[in-house]
Amino acid sequence: MKPSTLAVHAGAHIDADSAAVAPSIGLSTTFGHAADGTRGPAGFEYIREDNPNQRQLEAALRALEGGGAALAFASGMAAVTTLLDTIESPGEIVLPLDVYHGVRRYCREVMVGRGFVLRETDFADARGVAASIGASTRVVWCETPSNPQLVVADIAAIAQQTHGNGALLVVDNTFATPLLQNPLVLGADVVMHSTTKYLAGHSDALGGALVFARDDELAGGVRERRTLGGAIAAPFNTWLTLRGIRSLAPRMEFHCRNAAALADFLERQPAIAQVNYPGLASHPGHAIAARQMRAFGGMLSVRCRGGRDAALHIASRLRIFTNATSLGGVESLVEHRHSVESAGSSTPDDLLRVSVGVEHIDDLIADWQQALD
Ligand code: PLP
Repeated sequence: MKPSTLAVHAGAHIDADSAAVAPSIGLSTTFGHAADGTRGPAGFEYIREDNPNQRQLEAALRALEGGGAALAFASGMAAVTTLLDTIESPGEIVLPLDVYHGVRRYCREVMVGRGFVLRETDFADARGVAASIGASTRVVWCETPSNPQLVVADIAAIAQQTHGNGALLVVDNTFATPLLQNPLVLGADVVMHSTTKYLAGHSDALGGALVFARDDELAGGVRERRTLGGAIAAPFNTWLTLRGIRSLAPRMEFHCRNAAALADFLERQPAIAQVNYPGLASHPGHAIAARQMRAFGGMLSVRCRGGRDAALHIASRLRIFTNATSLGGVESLVEHRHSVESAGSSTPDDLLRVSVGVEHIDDLIADWQQALD
C-alpha cells in the first residue's frame, strides 16, 4: 500500500459495538479483569500501560514507518528521554552539531551526568561521523533534515558505520514525517517523532513516538520504562494525533510545494544571504535528500544580511507568518531560534527558521516581499 493510503487507513477498524467508522475517545483509566483475575479479552489493564486510543495510534505509526513495534508518548522529549534512559552507561553518544536543542541539552546535562561521553560532529559529513563512531559508541543520534539548519545526513551510510560498531542508530524523523522518509528502511534501528508537529498537524496536540525496527528486547525495555515512568499521552491527544495523520498526505503536498516555491523566491532576495532548504540545488545535501526523501518537506531556514537585528526586524514585519515557536502546523510560523535556544546554541544569530504552512503561496510570498521591502 502507498504511504498516503496507509495514512488514511492504518490502525482503523469499525467499532464492534456501534459500527462507528471514526474512533471514539476512551477515557477509562481502568479495564475489567477476567474472573480469574487476569486481563480482560482486549488485554488492557491500566491506562498508564496501554489503552485503546494509544494502541490504535501505535498501529498506525508502526505501519507508516514499516517497523516491528511503536510506542506513543506524552511529548517528543518524553520519547527521547525514555529511550535514552534505557541505555546502559558508560559509553559514547554521537550527536549532530545541529540538532533539536532539547535533545542536545538532555545529552549534555543528563547523559553526561550518567557517565556518557558526547561526540558532537557535523552530520553532513558521513566520513566525519564515521570517525566519531568507535567500539565504545552506544548510540548514534541522527536528525535529518535537522532543526534548525536543515542539515541532511546520509542515513544508509551512517547505519552501516553504526552497525559495524554494534551501536544503535536513532533517527529523528520529525521534519520529514513517514510520508517523505522511512529511516528504518534505510537501516536505522529506531525512528523518533515529535508528533506535536506534522503528524498531529494543527498545533493543538503535544505528543511523541518511537518506532522500532524490531519488536525485540530494546522495544520491550523502553515499553516497560514508559509504563514505570508514566510518560504516556492522554487519550484525547493520541486521538487528535491519529485524526491529524488521516490528512497527513494532502497537507504534506501543500507544505512541500509552498516551501519549495518560497525557498526559490527567497534565494533571489538581496536581503537574504543564504536559504537552507534541501530541495534547492544549491543545498550541500540536495543529492542525498533526493535519494532518501520522497519530497523535501515544509521546513526551511534563512540567514539574513545585517545579522541578528535584521533577522529580528524581518520576523517582526511578517504578518501571515506568526512569530512563534514550534512547526508543522497548517499555519505558517517564523522564529529567531538563537533567541529561544539555551546557552550553548550553535544556531547563527542571523537565522530565521520558517515553518511553511498550507496557505495560498501567493499570500506567503507577498508577505515576505512586504517584510523585505
Ligand atoms: N525533535 C525535533 C526535531 C523537534 O523539533 C522537537 C520540538 O520542537 C522535538 C524533537 C521535541 O518534541 P516535543 O516538543 O513534542 O517534546
